[in-house]
Amino acid sequence: MCYAIPGKIEAIAEKTVVVEYFGEKRKAYNELDDLSVGDYVYAQGGFVIQKIPQDEAESILSVWKETFFDLQEVDLKLSRLDLNQESVSKECLRILDNAAEGRKLSREDILVLIKEKNKSALELLFKVANFLRQKHHKNSCCVHGIIEISNYCCADCAYCGISRSNKNVTRYRMSQKEILEAARQAIEEHGFKTLLLQSGEDSGYSIEELAEIVRQIKANWPALIFISFGEVGLDNLELLYTAGARGLLLRFETSNPKLYKQATGGKDLSSRIAHLKKAYALGYLIITGSLIGLPGQSEEDLLNDIFLAKELHAEMYSFGPFISHPQTPFTGNPSASTETMLKVIALARIIDSAHAKILVTTALETINPDARREALLAGANSVMLNATPLKYRPLYNLYPLRAHEKESIEVQIKDTIGLLMSLGRSPTDLSV
Ligand code: SF4
Repeated sequence: MCYAIPGKIEAIAEKTVVVEYFGEKRKAYNELDDLSVGDYVYAQGGFVIQKIPQDEAESILSVWKETFFDLQEVDLKLSRLDLNQESVSKECLRILDNAAEGRKLSREDILVLIKEKNKSALELLFKVANFLRQKHHKNSCCVHGIIEISNYCCADCAYCGISRSNKNVTRYRMSQKEILEAARQAIEEHGFKTLLLQSGEDSGYSIEELAEIVRQIKANWPALIFISFGEVGLDNLELLYTAGARGLLLRFETSNPKLYKQATGGKDLSSRIAHLKKAYALGYLIITGSLIGLPGQSEEDLLNDIFLAKELHAEMYSFGPFISHPQTPFTGNPSASTETMLKVIALARIIDSAHAKILVTTALETINPDARREALLAGANSVMLNATPLKYRPLYNLYPLRAHEKESIEVQIKDTIGLLMSLGRSPTDLSV
């Protein structure tokens, strides 16, 4: 199964190419040497990652052709919008009508939506977000793979099960050989086109070792590589970019500096923001967002989180619910609700309609097994599947009972494709 539809190069202007598939045209950045107009390629996240032979591309396209337009039709039906709802207040209807029409909402308007409790109003909010997702992104949904390479961390976040103070964790660090084999399986056997390598802030790997791992993956397999190793240092971001990493997942966790200090054992938010700004300046695709439901977090904070992610040029928004871990200082605090999570996702879609890819996080699926479907119908359009070797997965214990912890990658892929097909989504990632 491929999570991308091959496209044909229609035009090349220096490093930018125009890729066409089924009448849709997308721009992508090309780093390959030998591309010509008429070649077939895979593109991910706005990067051309692989040239493929014409006969192979045409065969894949003929399979897709059977279903592509049917899927679009299903998606279109599911994202139709009817704003005539008597049980929703006039004020809420006015705001949602403006949102659906693409008019900019004031901060006050967005606060009204975030405070909304009426079930019918919330259903309508999610529908507006889904309508905007369909309008701007059609039925595409990114399906990326993640490999959690180490659960060592020298940081001490008060909410996190693998923070350095938790002495009850069995630590693991995958060797370079193990990481390369997991990457090979994910790309070659399971068809992932984008792979995220994640760990705690683990000084057990030198930055040269991490760069070499990225370099080796890039040299051996066609894939877009995202990294998530915490705050690696501004200069090291450049080194990893040069090695071939093109995306950075680094959540700022909260836009509130005081709350950030409390949640991270006294760290300064400005350092995290500096990493995100430097990464964007270097050309990384930015995946960022926050932890929803932190003790002491206000609705204003949630709104600021969405705006901060936008300001940081998030290519993909990642909002996860706080889930209490028994061996952390924040234990006993209530987890975020599905309702709040869906509100944040829907509002992110409304605030950054045309640009945002919005991830359904594993943590959200942990608090609600049906959340992937619900979030995809509330503005989200991205999922990540866990391709970490099964023996390590339970040890990456950020919070208890993580969803998909024991599911093989084959089962995750089958279930995900089944869900996407039922919603009329195609598992593709071509940037607008
Ligand atoms: S949240 Fe990340 S940086 Fe903080 S302790 Fe956990 S793994 Fe380390």
